[in-house]
Amino acid sequence: MQREQQIADNLARVRERIAAAARRSGRASEAITLVAVTKTHGPAIVRLAQAAGITDCGENRVQEAEQKIAALRDLPLRWHLIGHLQRNKARRAVALFDLIHSVDSLRLAQTLDRLVAEQAPPRRLPVLLQINVSGEASKEGFDLPGGLDNRQALPAFYATIAQIVALPHLELRGLMTIAPYSNDPETTRPVFRALRLLRDDLARRFPQAGWNQLSMGMTNDFEVAIEEGATIVRIGRALFGERIA
Ligand SMILES: *Cc1c(COP(=O)(O)O)cnc(C)c1O
Repeated sequence: MQREQQIADNLARVRERIAAAARRSGRASEAITLVAVTKTHGPAIVRLAQAAGITDCGENRVQEAEQKIAALRDLPLRWHLIGHLQRNKARRAVALFDLIHSVDSLRLAQTLDRLVAEQAPPRRLPVLLQINVSGEASKEGFDLPGGLDNRQALPAFYATIAQIVALPHLELRGLMTIAPYSNDPETTRPVFRALRLLRDDLARRFPQAGWNQLSMGMTNDFEVAIEEGATIVRIGRALFGERIA
């Protein structure tokens, strides 16, 4: 089958599944943004995806994204950084991305705030805070050791969030998480639910910031994530097939 047709078919199937999951959660499918994860795929594939209707692309490496975004300047795509951002690449990330999902430390948030402040005209950079809900050592993100029930860890966590909320050049929009890999999406449901409850908690404590967005759900688990309130799903393999590179 032609690659173009394959991507269009995959996209149609993913959109149907998003719509069905949205209905189950009592929401319109328009409330959910599909980010096509284009990492490892070259500009030619991204062009096919855009022609098929993709509006948002997710990349996890600044270096790789920089070249791709330059090659696709003519397309009206929004670019999302979904991978860990090293502070020495933050300047380039600020120039490249429309939304950074992976703010995972106070120091990174402060660095981004300073870099945006140096730019003219002044603006606010949309960001999400990445949360390591499951506590897996391999996962980036703010730790919630023991989850929301660990009362001892919470004051320090809230103090950090308060400092990030106060940064004038960041526009906080919500939270992001990566669930532990599993072939049974039901095992990830508690992770997504915990992220939503954390978001609700932070929205009550810090009403001056924006908390609408929940970036959660990938190929293996996006339907469960939507049922639990995802507003952004990040999908690679269901659109483009297994990654080779
Ligand atoms: C690669 C990646 C995805 C997409 O994963 P698939 O299983 O291909 O859908 C989503 N989010 C992040 C952070 C990723 O690194």
